Amino acid sequence: MKRTYTAARLYTALSEEVIAPGAVTIDAEQIVYAGALADAPADVELVDLGDVTLLPGLIDSHVHLTLSASEHVLEDYSNDSDQIKLIRGVEACRRALLAGVTTVRECGGQNELIFALRAAAAGGIIPAPRIIAAGGAITTTGGHCWFFGLEADSEADLRRMVRAQVKAGADFIKVMASGGALTPRTNPAAAQYTPAQIQAICDEAKRLGLDVAAHCHATESVICAAQAGVRTIEHCSFLTPEGIVYDQEAARAVHASGAYVCPTLAIAKRAAASLAEDHPLQQMRRRMGGTRMANLRRLHALGVPFISGSDAGVTLNPFEDFAYNLTELVDQVGLTPHQALQTATRLASEALRRPDIGTLANGRSADLIAVHGNPLEQINSLFEVRAVIARGVRYQ
Ligand SMILES: [Zn+2]
Repeated sequence: MKRTYTAARLYTALSEEVIAPGAVTIDAEQIVYAGALADAPADVELVDLGDVTLLPGLIDSHVHLTLSASEHVLEDYSNDSDQIKLIRGVEACRRALLAGVTTVRECGGQNELIFALRAAAAGGIIPAPRIIAAGGAITTTGGHCWFFGLEADSEADLRRMVRAQVKAGADFIKVMASGGALTPRTNPAAAQYTPAQIQAICDEAKRLGLDVAAHCHATESVICAAQAGVRTIEHCSFLTPEGIVYDQEAARAVHASGAYVCPTLAIAKRAAASLAEDHPLQQMRRRMGGTRMANLRRLHALGVPFISGSDAGVTLNPFEDFAYNLTELVDQVGLTPHQALQTATRLASEALRRPDIGTLANGRSADLIAVHGNPLEQINSLFEVRAVIARGVRYQ
């Protein structure tokens, strides 16, 4: 059955334009019209959402649904049974959805749990965003996130692991190309794999039609991931043993590769307010701080496309906080609200090769949200979600 949602303003994400008043007509799970209210199809039930802005459902390109987002993520992960992890995932999905996120890209968790959540979301069993899932992340023995990772070291083993993930049903391949702050006894400032090893992963994934997302704090890992042809570079922190330093060679490599950068730049937003000053995350936040934002400004000026991902699930990074990633892009990196919105809509759909999501137009999936005010003027209005429609079903 068709239904038209009307609102004072409409942002389709196809351009910077705000259409006022706007309308989106959906037929079951599909959009059949998005544009000016005056031109909306006749004889369709109207639902007036009022003085709000309609926009595409947001895409959070980096989450970990089975992590607790508490202060003690690793303890939780080792104490939780698989059943509890799964229940955490269900609750994470609900929170993300009600915050306006209608698609998440799951960047690492146990295969059987993540693929079950994906199926439950797709089947409408739980209120959830669409889940695009890597399942387990490929990492070195004892490497970053080994506890839900798939440990592989040699080129032959890495190729085999990619094949195993394709067989298991992964939508893309996630690799931990450097160490990470979450995992003790790894080194975020050093690459975990050689260029030839990352190349083996990318070649095997490409042969089987999947993209690779690479977790990269270390500058050397950024360079080898870009040169190997990964689709997205997660974090892209430019971390060296001497701290965070902008690296022109790495920046050029990223730009030349056409990779999208997912800076996960609001990771420490909530932690900043609630953790002791000597907590490792506070130390990381101080280290990352200003230099990190300045680096992102330079990458953006170079023309590197950004997508927004929260890394929700890691320490004090809850699923409902996704919008901080967009407000930080505006407040700290200097993007316009339109440019920031693109990182969670049109650019994310491009990066994920999902033209059916991320914009509002005839034929797209009926994923749309309404927020109070006008996010093109006040990006903070993304925190005031008034309606969420995911694959045609209204949840709020
Ligand atoms: Zn992550």
